[in-house]
Amino acid sequence: MSPITPQTLTTRQIILRMIVPAAIVLAGTIGTVLVSLNEMAEAVNRLEERVTLRLAEAAVRSELSRIDQTHQDYAVWDDAVRRLYGRIDREFADSNFRAATDGAAFFDTAYLLDEDGNDVFAFRKGGTASLSSREAFGPMLAKLIEGVPTDGHGYAVRSGMIRTPWGIEKVAVGPVVPDGETVKAPDHARLLVLAKSFDGPNVARLGNEFVIAGLELTPPDGAGQLAITDPGGTVIGKLGWRASSIGGEAHARISPIVIVMLLLLACIVVGLIYVALRSMRRIQDGEATARYAARHDGLTDLPNRAALVDYLNHAIGTRMEGEQIAVAYLDLDGFKDVNDAYGHEAGDALLVSVSSGFRALCGRHFLARVGGDEFVIVISGAHAPKQATDLAWALIGYLVQPIDAGGRPVVVGASAGIATLSSSLVSAEELLRRADVAMYQSKQQGRGRVSVHDPIIDTVRQERREIADDLRRALRNGGLDLAYQPVFDARDGKVTAVEALARWNRPGFGPVTTETFVEIAEETGQIDELGMWVLRRACTDALEWPGIRLSVNISPAQFRSPGFMAGVSSVLSDTQFQSTRLEMEVTEGYFISHPEQARKAIDAVRGLGIAVALDDFGTGYSSIGYLKRFTFDRLKLDRSLINGISRDHRVQRLVQATIAIADALDLDVTAEGVELAEEATLLRIAGCDEFQGFFFSQPRPASEITALLAATAVETARGQIRQVS
Ligand code: C2E
Ligand code: MG
Ligand code: MG
Repeated sequence: MSPITPQTLTTRQIILRMIVPAAIVLAGTIGTVLVSLNEMAEAVNRLEERVTLRLAEAAVRSELSRIDQTHQDYAVWDDAVRRLYGRIDREFADSNFRAATDGAAFFDTAYLLDEDGNDVFAFRKGGTASLSSREAFGPMLAKLIEGVPTDGHGYAVRSGMIRTPWGIEKVAVGPVVPDGETVKAPDHARLLVLAKSFDGPNVARLGNEFVIAGLELTPPDGAGQLAITDPGGTVIGKLGWRASSIGGEAHARISPIVIVMLLLLACIVVGLIYVALRSMRRIQDGEATARYAARHDGLTDLPNRAALVDYLNHAIGTRMEGEQIAVAYLDLDGFKDVNDAYGHEAGDALLVSVSSGFRALCGRHFLARVGGDEFVIVISGAHAPKQATDLAWALIGYLVQPIDAGGRPVVVGASAGIATLSSSLVSAEELLRRADVAMYQSKQQGRGRVSVHDPIIDTVRQERREIADDLRRALRNGGLDLAYQPVFDARDGKVTAVEALARWNRPGFGPVTTETFVEIAEETGQIDELGMWVLRRACTDALEWPGIRLSVNISPAQFRSPGFMAGVSSVLSDTQFQSTRLEMEVTEGYFISHPEQARKAIDAVRGLGIAVALDDFGTGYSSIGYLKRFTFDRLKLDRSLINGISRDHRVQRLVQATIAIADALDLDVTAEGVELAEEATLLRIAGCDEFQGFFFSQPRPASEITALLAATAVETARGQIRQVS
């Protein structure tokens, strides 16, 4: 149940937002181009049609003007006036008119009408016409004649198309008149009618002349485009031609190119959409991957802290009545040691193994990795706190068996803390913090356990955090100090050594016990700095006290630090303090938990000429075994043993035996915390080499040590020794 939903586009959204608009634009473009192409072809055709119509009209007009011209040539003629008025000269008529109709070069029919409108001659195609002019041209001839001057003065010709029994004829009518002044014009004019067939061949020739493809004569009700009307306005035929195909041809020629271009365009658009979709998908995938990576741990693939906080906030926000939310915080015990001993690869492999085991055990519960070796489980439900505790124990139980760490079985543990969401607590961060505090308590109480958060620990922890902050300041500002506790020779009471002990007077709170702030320094990683400060300061101070040993306490954490040996060397060379005068005190814990590393560390320290003392012997395991295994120079018997010595015989025997063993192992023995004269006596009898304790001297400031080392102090000690013996 992830509260975060990815902002990716669904296929439906992609189709709606990209493909549909692109398809519409593409279809629109293709449609527009095709329609425009058709439109253009038709416009070209219409234009061509209009031009052809004008041409056809011109052709018809030219036909009529041609016959008009011919008429003028034959009718405006002095000879014709002389020979065709009164009794006509037959020979003249024959040779000039009948003969002309024979070849039909200009006309194929000629009539001469007298003053009353009767035919004087009638020729057609080289012979006498079979029809009278009235029969041939009907009333249309009279219509033409209406516009012709008949008074013998002036010339005008009228022409038109007339349907005759022979077919459509171009007919021209006009008076026969003289062409000059020599012949007198007649009072009443005779009319010359010239006609020529307007037939198929004639029309075809016209088509050629005027470049009108397929020009033809069709009946009045035919499909022709230009009507031919007689002088009375009746349609007697039509001229038709082949419809223009220029537009169509252009269309046919351009179309393939345009279609190819449109196909290309379509391909480009489809390609662009494809590319856009792919890059979008890639970006979306990239975003999804980045989002995933931002919320998951790269090593174990478990949700990380950010994802956990979101999840918890969501769970808190949507919590129902009666529902509880519990958090289990788990930290592996000993993980750092696996890293130190076998390397980070083994550590990583261990984390992967642990994660998969945890994942299986957690089932449907939310499991996150929130730090190096820290895991958090969130459980919600009516019994969440109990479930969280049980599950935490189960996870700790799972770790009892060896876990695979890159082919090497290792044993680690875990400490857990449980916190439950209370009504007054609503923040995910606070819930996690409390679980963390409880986990920390488990660690402090010996690890491998489950602690439920208790507000009291919180206060303690808060206090410790404040102490840590103040300690950090003290380290920076020189707020720490050293006290030196002298160590006395058991035989002659001379001061043989001083033990440097850190002191801190916390501003506003007073002195803090050394155990407390040393422990805090260890927890917070300040121990390296603190330890080096102590060493440097002690070595510097002890330069004033030649001939005596300087004991410095070293915390196990310092040994683990990689820069430790280099730090020690640089302090020795800086202060010019003799390494053979220096002794380091180490507690046994380190030798038990990290025997191998401890051995190496001791060897390195001893390699520099520094002696190593085993501090606080008698408190923990105090195993004689490791006294033998490690090369110590000295054994320091813990105060708890010494304090029992005068009351308890068994303790007395124990101390005696321990000193005997140390002696056998060639170890010097220092008794710590000697508070009573009786204790000192018993220890001396047992063979103890040196004494340290309040009975002899409290830890003192450096200045007092200088004084103590003066002869009087030696005397005082002698006196004390004498007193106890
Ligand atoms: P320790 O190393 O065992 O030091 C001896 C402790 O016993 C000192 O306590 C000292 O004041 C106390 N003591 C000595 N004689 C008597 C006695 O007769 N009676 C009683 N009741 N106490 C006596 P202190 O100074 O509080 O140090 C406590 C522990 O803190 C030390 O135990 C040592 O483990 C640690 N420590 C002190 N200084 C340093 C330091 O500079 N670095 C590290 N790592 N640890 C330090
Ligand atoms: Mg000590
Ligand atoms: Mg001690």
